[in-house]
Amino acid sequence: MTFTVQGWCPGALRPMMSGDGLVVRIRPRLARLTAAQAQGIADAALRHGNGLIDLSARANIQLRGIRPDTHAALLADLDDLGLIDPDEATEAHRNIVVTPFWTEGDGTADVVATLTEILQSPTYANLPSKFGFAVGPAAILDGVAADIRISPSGAGWLVRPDGCDRGAVGDVAGLVTRLLDWFLASGGVQNGRGRMGGLKATLPADFISAPPVDPTTQRPGPHPLGTLVALEFGQIHATLLATLATTPLRITPWRMLLVEGATPAHPALITAPDDPRLRVTACTGAPGCPQALQPTRDLARTLATQVPPGHHLHVSGCAKGCAHPKPADICLVATATGFDLIPNGRAHDTPSGAFDAARPLFKAL
Ligand code: SF4
Repeated sequence: MTFTVQGWCPGALRPMMSGDGLVVRIRPRLARLTAAQAQGIADAALRHGNGLIDLSARANIQLRGIRPDTHAALLADLDDLGLIDPDEATEAHRNIVVTPFWTEGDGTADVVATLTEILQSPTYANLPSKFGFAVGPAAILDGVAADIRISPSGAGWLVRPDGCDRGAVGDVAGLVTRLLDWFLASGGVQNGRGRMGGLKATLPADFISAPPVDPTTQRPGPHPLGTLVALEFGQIHATLLATLATTPLRITPWRMLLVEGATPAHPALITAPDDPRLRVTACTGAPGCPQALQPTRDLARTLATQVPPGHHLHVSGCAKGCAHPKPADICLVATATGFDLIPNGRAHDTPSGAFDAARPLFKAL
């Protein structure tokens, strides 16, 4: 099992080279794009890249296949759309996932502004680049990776460190800076890496019991703010994005888009919660990812109809499993000669044997 852990996420100012060109990640503020921004991104993806756009598990957008020689021009286009941070460090630290269901005046924007200001302090310049925040109701965001969770409660904003069943309610800026100081002072960063969930240290005594909440599974379909649409493998082509860009779009951490005030229809848009395409995930695979040992998505697409409702198949191009770090009912992991089969496990778990396309997949369970 060999794969490279990069330890950082791409940005727009600091893209990551992949098998199909540069990956450029855009972090929309408040997880929302105006119609003009969405149209501009679609145009830029076609002009400078291969037109493929990934939705990430942190509610970001990744443009794929960007040519290195047009990266500067792409940045200029994105800057005109108000989508570029002032510098690499600001961009890298602005890992703030918000509920896509925020509404005007509910305080979400104020919390995000507070966090953005805190993260610009030199005191926190050495936070790991993957360190992040989730802002929104626990029932919506507790399933999303984050290091500090800030959720509304009856008494005010509840601030919780990830991996801990305690929190405190009160002044968000004060509580967040105390948690960050505590994280740094407790040795939370080792060799530039570290996550709040892995920290073994004693929290300040005023952080009282605040158990995590079981998050509600989000499904595509009508929503009071518009329509939640899912995309096969969380990827949309720029031409389709352009057709949606008649209204603002919200980017969700479930690789779905919330199309504000509209009910779009297109074969590539998944709007039914029982669509078989929702039962499979697959990473980029070969040739888009240089670490992939096999293509993944055609196989996942072929197998989708074999996956019974309520079950999940993940196809991974290597044992890193970055598109689905959690266990799947069946995980197929590429090898040099085919795929290994892992029932009820993650991509890096021990396989039960080789995948055999001639045998029914879910009989194995
Ligand atoms: S899991 Fe997939 S996308 Fe991630 S490194 Fe491996 S092949 Fe690449």
